[in-house]
Amino acid sequence: MENVRAKKHLGQHFLKDLDAAKRIVDLYQDKNSNKLVLEIGPGMGVLTQYLLKREELDLVLVEIDTESVAYLKKNFSIAEDKIIEGDFLKMNFEEKLQVSGNQKFGIIGNFPYNISSQIFFTVLDHKDQIEEIVGMVQKEVGQRIASKPGNKDYGILSVLLQAFYDIEYCFTVLPGAFNPPPKVDSGVIRLVRNYDKVLDCDFKKFKLVVKTAFNQRRKMLSNALKPITTKEIPYANKRAENLDYLQFVELTKLIFETA
Ligand code: SAH
Repeated sequence: MENVRAKKHLGQHFLKDLDAAKRIVDLYQDKNSNKLVLEIGPGMGVLTQYLLKREELDLVLVEIDTESVAYLKKNFSIAEDKIIEGDFLKMNFEEKLQVSGNQKFGIIGNFPYNISSQIFFTVLDHKDQIEEIVGMVQKEVGQRIASKPGNKDYGILSVLLQAFYDIEYCFTVLPGAFNPPPKVDSGVIRLVRNYDKVLDCDFKKFKLVVKTAFNQRRKMLSNALKPITTKEIPYANKRAENLDYLQFVELTKLIFETA
């Protein structure tokens, strides 16, 4: 069987290190036995082969590349309706995964790095259904997502994701583990939904405050948040990178409170 030709515009870097592939799949816990797990961008199936061995899981694949889809269908015995050819970012979960309101699922993948931030914003749009994510991303992106307040790489996705998920940077994978090798190091992260974290304000407003604050991250919050408030705010002389998500919740409530 011919291998899939790596297409740069689809972020295709195929993992050839089987040990790393196994470790990634082993990280996926499915603690609450949701069973349903969606693999983003299976490519030639290096993760898929280990996921299929875990018979307790109900695996669905979403892959945008026609050539990879054909490869997967030829080389793996996966039911027709478990391989979705299409764009994860445009996927209708209700229709394609047949998940109704409260059914939960997880996500795994060696993500296409050019859309990894968008993948995580999509996760946030479905945070009450997506309970766990194990993903390989560019190392810096992984570190940023897992980064704590006070670090220079702490940013928008760190705050937004940490407001709902417990996050762990698991391990680093070097370029030589891939074919073709990417120009950057890679990192594997795991996010597990923590239901004790209940956002005590409107999510959209929270997102607006966080994005505005980081938009001018070198400025003190009194200045950075001027575009959205004229109020006196707490933490006025701190910077966005110094606040944890709870402090952003506090700011959001104060800025948008209707008195
Ligand atoms: N999991 C494989 C491939 C990783 S490369 C491995 O580890 O070897 C990233 C994969 O994501 C490629 O197969 C690419 O075709 C796919 N991909 C890129 N953009 C996508 C999108 N928007 N939706 C779904 N899959 C996508």
